[in-house]
Amino acid sequence: MFWRSWHIFALLTGLSMDYYTPLEHRKHSFKEFMNEMVVKQFMDQFRDFGLELPWYWDDHFLKELDWYHHALHLGVWTWRQTAWWNPDAGVSPEERAWLEEKYPGWNDTFGKQWDVITENIRDGKPELTLPETFPMVCNMCQIPLVTPAGFLFGKLDSPEPLIVDRDGRRLLFCSEPCKWVYEQNPERFAGQLTIIDRFLSGVIQPPTVDGALAYMGLSPEEQGQDATNYAWAFVNQPARQIAG
Ligand SMILES: [Zn+2]
Repeated sequence: MFWRSWHIFALLTGLSMDYYTPLEHRKHSFKEFMNEMVVKQFMDQFRDFGLELPWYWDDHFLKELDWYHHALHLGVWTWRQTAWWNPDAGVSPEERAWLEEKYPGWNDTFGKQWDVITENIRDGKPELTLPETFPMVCNMCQIPLVTPAGFLFGKLDSPEPLIVDRDGRRLLFCSEPCKWVYEQNPERFAGQLTIIDRFLSGVIQPPTVDGALAYMGLSPEEQGQDATNYAWAFVNQPARQIAG
């Protein structure tokens, strides 16, 4: 339960604290908040009750505090059409400086991915920042599989996908703990179909991004867009001549 709660919490609160909250109103980074309010409290309680920490504490939970919600943010923004709100990119030059201060190395990892996005926006090609298909989704937490950005630039080993073939079905997991949770009680979760399972099995028709958006009940007016119409990409940029 702790692990699954962590993933949902990172998705909802991590993005809000580190990307959506205006810079002047930010007090703690999400990681600082987690360390103070969650990590310390839980470790104190575990110790007081004489319990051991969960096996995934150091190698998975604490490590994800550095990158997991940054990767989710990139995913939510990229798949913004599937969101029912307008995601803020939150990566203006000032905001990026804050991210680098709070998460040293951010500019060299996630920042490089945002560099490419920013360049496409400045070149007037926002369509290149939209996805052409859907991400794989974890069969436990139902959140898309994301990875630390560093491996793209040779700073980390490339992650191995966690695949389990079971009863004629291929299952994917975003993390060792999600796979472990599933395997504690596979019968309980066996009937669950993620949106991607439904996409691949032909339930969603037509099997396109537009078909899936319609299946989600998202009309074009309801689909998320960049919250500031890409204003962040043009901060400190000379005004561009608009053709025509
Ligand atoms: Zn998962």
